[in-house]
Amino acid sequence: MIPIEKNREYTACITAMSSDGNGIARIDGYTVFVPQTVKGDTVRFLAVKTKSSYGYGKLIEIISPSADRCRPVCPSFGVCGGCQLMHMTYRAQLAFKEDMVKNHLLRIGGFSDVNIEPIIGMEEPYYYRNKMSFPAGQDDGHLISGFYAPHSHRVIPTAHCLLGSDEMMKIVGAVWEYARKIGVCAYDETNHTGCIRRIFVREGYRTEEIMAVVSANSADVRESHVLIDCIRAASERVSSIIWNVNTEKTNPGLGQRNITLWGKDYIEDQLCGVRYRISPNSFFQVNPAQTERLYQKAICFAGLTGCETVMDLYCGIGTISLACARYAKRVIGVETVKQAVEDARCNAVENKIDNAVFYDGSAERIVPQLIADGESPDVVILDPPRKGSDEITLGAIAQAQPKKIVYVSCDSATLSRDLRYLRERGYQIENAALFDMFPQTVHVETVVSLSK
Ligand code: SAH
Repeated sequence: MIPIEKNREYTACITAMSSDGNGIARIDGYTVFVPQTVKGDTVRFLAVKTKSSYGYGKLIEIISPSADRCRPVCPSFGVCGGCQLMHMTYRAQLAFKEDMVKNHLLRIGGFSDVNIEPIIGMEEPYYYRNKMSFPAGQDDGHLISGFYAPHSHRVIPTAHCLLGSDEMMKIVGAVWEYARKIGVCAYDETNHTGCIRRIFVREGYRTEEIMAVVSANSADVRESHVLIDCIRAASERVSSIIWNVNTEKTNPGLGQRNITLWGKDYIEDQLCGVRYRISPNSFFQVNPAQTERLYQKAICFAGLTGCETVMDLYCGIGTISLACARYAKRVIGVETVKQAVEDARCNAVENKIDNAVFYDGSAERIVPQLIADGESPDVVILDPPRKGSDEITLGAIAQAQPKKIVYVSCDSATLSRDLRYLRERGYQIENAALFDMFPQTVHVETVVSLSK
């Protein structure tokens, strides 16, 4: 029996938080998720969904606020899907992330006794992103761009975002100025019509260079000189203007083809004393200040003495590989995005690093091959995307028996699953550290070292 009825109001205490940042109330043992509430709140909510094992409530009133609650500084909080924790004090956000990782390690991995170092937060947990990607939309004939609403592709117009910089917003304004002048419309994903799909801006943390990418449903750039003039007038720091072609119905991200309209095909930045070039489709960590701390920790956990062969899997543009090359004998990077591997190779040359090689292909294809060909890494560092690694790659790593494995993860649930697999193959967790790379959101970066 479900103890709540749809469309009726209830009063309850929020006693826990879900990993996607919703408060949880329990009514006669039945779980109700109430978005925008905080553990410790007493609230009135409207039951909007009642499934057999859980329900959803819509917050109506906060009867008594939690000590962890604060006023969200962004007026779009709750409407825009970008941030989930802005209604929590920063201290409470950090504690939430520590709890979430411990919970995943215990429930998914079966690890109850991991010694996790206190989470490293930011002094100023705003304006930290070096990249923003704004989907475009059309509202009542007006062009808009901003962020998607939670769990939807409805664009919420955004004039200012507390996670990015004002310079990025100027680029967005410049693209719309161009669109208005030329009469170019936003892409409509329902009918697969229209032109501009997304405005993507990347900013160098140390170099301050800016790359402006306009992703569109066509390779035909109408009056490109107008677009170039608008963007260059918006910011003197722009060093690369790219037209990205994405004609695929199902891909909301960037397409594979880039046309450089003005300036360089990439921008450059510097992390941990290494200079990197970054192409539009290459992955680069979004919070550079925290990334340096994270990489230093990963290198420290790797315990390099200068004699080791290191494999850096899911290496992107070679950031971790090149940052640790000076402490190792050899580094082998593996990455599936071709453009990123090209960047990694150039980055090695530009930085005069000659003990790093990069393989272009998926880890699950390349790693078993390398091991079969006799490569025997002393240390394996892996930093997969959110879905984690896979049994083929992890099996090949375990078979090679490296002294140390350092796992860098942006999803503690898939991390816990993969650590469990490695434990079954004889690896024990040695150290774990957490970094808040994404303040105001539910995401957290974890670094774990394992040894045989
Ligand atoms: N270590 C890098 C990149 C981490 S992000 C950094 O810190 O910058 C994860 C990377 O894994 C991305 O570059 C993505 O393109 C790559 N990737 C995704 N699936 C992959 C796979 N199956 N094999 C190899 N690389 C993959």
